[in-house]
Amino acid sequence: MIQITMPLNFLGTVYREIRQSLVDMGEMFDLLGQPAEITDKRGAKDLNVTGGAVELDDVSFGYEAARPILKGVNIRAGAGETVAIVGPSGSGKSTIGRLLFRFYDVTGGALRIDGQDVRDITQDSLHDQIGVVPQDTVLFNDTILYNIAYGRPEASREELIAAAQAAKIHDFVVSLPEGYETKVGERGLKLSGGEKQRVGIARTLLKNPPILLLDEATSALDTQTERDIQESLKAMGEGRTVITIAHRLSTIADADRIVVLEKGEVVEEGRHEALLARGGRYAAMWARQSAEEETEREAPRAAAG
Ligand code: ADP
Ligand code: MG
Repeated sequence: MIQITMPLNFLGTVYREIRQSLVDMGEMFDLLGQPAEITDKRGAKDLNVTGGAVELDDVSFGYEAARPILKGVNIRAGAGETVAIVGPSGSGKSTIGRLLFRFYDVTGGALRIDGQDVRDITQDSLHDQIGVVPQDTVLFNDTILYNIAYGRPEASREELIAAAQAAKIHDFVVSLPEGYETKVGERGLKLSGGEKQRVGIARTLLKNPPILLLDEATSALDTQTERDIQESLKAMGEGRTVITIAHRLSTIADADRIVVLEKGEVVEEGRHEALLARGGRYAAMWARQSAEEETEREAPRAAAG
């Protein structure tokens, strides 16, 4: 018995690891450009998370040497803080996420987690400690149970249900005839964008990483669904360090700090109220979005799509 099950378990583990890395790649699709060859340094140590503080220290980076994308960026997220990064499309927001995951190495400055340069630690341990909620959650052609359990396959059923409850997907799941055994994905039940996103949040909650990276996690959803999901995301951020890249500013108004990025440079930084009072870039972005939302409310049909 032991002779048979041991190699099978071993294969299962390897298989799971391969799929895990594929899924992580898939989930990172939006964050991911074309990753360069990054390897662990000889003698790299595992990341030792003490609080989950993230620090970009004078970070410069370009995908090509001739075209700098980030120019001396300083961002600090203390342990348990929520820092939002906003700015026009193409300003380098997602690039910061890619550097945090070390899909690329900085060309100047350093990126540290709890004081450890990401170039000095193993990539596996780095990826273990960061949870990503991307714009589009990738689901497997498997059961809802499998799709959530994926975050941490060894979790108990109680833990899994707690994660689903916190992500506000549990009630929906148990209302289905087959409950957690319902098959989803291409060949199963088609979930709405909001439902998929909640499964993704439940998966990440189960993984329980100390650091969260949300890259426009709700921008693919309609306003009402986004509002609902926002609550789940907020619950997920409790006691964690959160870096959130946001499109809709109303979703990050209560962040501990908002960083405005423009053409790869931090042009403003502060809390929502302070930035509004300042009357600069953020205030202008806020005014523009408020006006747009007002138009949407007044003429929902005209603004649709
Ligand atoms: P944001 O998320 O703020 O919209 P990104 O960080 O995705 O911006 O991109 C910043 C800049 O880097 C853009 O000009 C984009 O075209 C460029 N860029 C992104 N990915 C790559 C890549 N893999 N190779 C070359 N340039 C890239
Ligand atoms: Mg982006």
